[in-house]
Amino acid sequence: MTSTVPAPSAASTRPPLPSTAPTPTPDPAGSARAYDLDRAHVFHSWSAQAALKPFVAAGAEGSWVWDGEGRPFLDFSSQLVFTNIGFQHPKVVAAIQDQAAKLCTIAPQHVNDARSEAARLIVERAPGASFSHVFFTNGGADAIENAVRMARLHTGRRKVLARYRSYHGNTTTAINLTGDPRRWPNDYGAEGVVHFFGPFLYRSHFHATTEAEECARALEHLEQTIVLEGASTIAAIVLESIPGTAGIMIPPPGYLRGVRELCDKYGILWIADEVMSGFGRAGRWFACELGDEDGAGNRVDDTRTEPDLVTFAKGVNSGYVPLGGVIVSEKVYETFSNRVFPGGLTYSGHPLACAAAVATINVMADEGVVENADRLGREIFGPALADLQARHEIVGEVRGSGAFWALELVRDKATRTPLVPFNAAGEANAPILALGAACKERGLLPFINGSRTHVVPALNITDDEARYGLALLDEALTAVEGTL
Ligand code: PLP
Repeated sequence: MTSTVPAPSAASTRPPLPSTAPTPTPDPAGSARAYDLDRAHVFHSWSAQAALKPFVAAGAEGSWVWDGEGRPFLDFSSQLVFTNIGFQHPKVVAAIQDQAAKLCTIAPQHVNDARSEAARLIVERAPGASFSHVFFTNGGADAIENAVRMARLHTGRRKVLARYRSYHGNTTTAINLTGDPRRWPNDYGAEGVVHFFGPFLYRSHFHATTEAEECARALEHLEQTIVLEGASTIAAIVLESIPGTAGIMIPPPGYLRGVRELCDKYGILWIADEVMSGFGRAGRWFACELGDEDGAGNRVDDTRTEPDLVTFAKGVNSGYVPLGGVIVSEKVYETFSNRVFPGGLTYSGHPLACAAAVATINVMADEGVVENADRLGREIFGPALADLQARHEIVGEVRGSGAFWALELVRDKATRTPLVPFNAAGEANAPILALGAACKERGLLPFINGSRTHVVPALNITDDEARYGLALLDEALTAVEGTL
């Protein structure tokens, strides 16, 4: 096959281009027109508009995206970590086409078979036997919004706790819960949110030196926060089961169980945000299931650490049609069995999105996609990234599970000084931008945030593709090291 991917240097150990790499027909004129119209008329998220030079995605298949020149890129980002079964899975495409031919749309108050079946499949996989119903939304932020609304009405309390180093979405409550700089310009201090520190041993806020110490001290800090804020004022604790965009910090064994115990002790609901970590990403259907394990895959307790509400989106249908939702436990459902839930959305449980979810979940089950993510983490990403950490001066730590990994990049391994400062801009941010450029030059789409790059490909990426992408990342790290 032919490819425009630049050739490796003589010293490179890059494996051959995987046989799955596509050979698309270039369409430079079409992509130039799309680009010009985009720049003329599309207002982009989270950006100053003038300096943008967005990538033109002319097409995609499996783990590959190509540009207008027909150049394939291996997607190590799953876009915004949502194409959990890759692009254009034929069974999901067919399910969307069939649903479109049958019934494109229907209002949420009417029963629809795609929605009913999607709800059944999601409840069946929910992290615990106490879950019974699904409230469907259009994406992750509105799932958070509605979960918090449920928790406030269920408890009769208003305040919500969330951790620093987190992302929960871009609607008012969700962005105020968010523990990263995207909150700052949107935070008027009016949403009743209090932030606390979660466990993160590599940059411990608790002067801890072991995971066990970090866990115990983080829980002690959380309990103090609850007590000092006034437990009777707190409706919920919102936690990404594994913080995603903020750095893929796997909670130490016992942390989520400790959160559950604190919630029970103080009458607070636990909202597990599984928008990014759910639907197989971490090698389990939901990442909070790892809370009952010892870090080596062994269950440490027979009882499950169950949240009260679980928010999901992204991977539920691999992002093919916008969909999110809240999985509701019986006890919260009961609150609204004879009392109106004051919330709803025109497109709640949209048939096209739900048909895509049914097909995606069935593909994941039939093709062992979750098990594959777990295996990839243990057999390929874990060992290969540990090797990158050992060989590269700028890789301070690697951490993750399944197909959900972060490389913490540093200027100095001993001091752990981040490669770029927190919330860096301009010149200070140049090294991390250089890493992104070095990846793209080599045909790899990375997921970069702060001083990190994440390895978050489709869960059904082939082993050859995974190894190829890791080799490109290895080269890109070397290239950046050469410039420091
Ligand atoms: N929660 C988490 C953990 C997320 O990662 C995201 C998006 O990245 C959201 C919520 C918001 O989802 P959406 O962008 O679909 O509104």
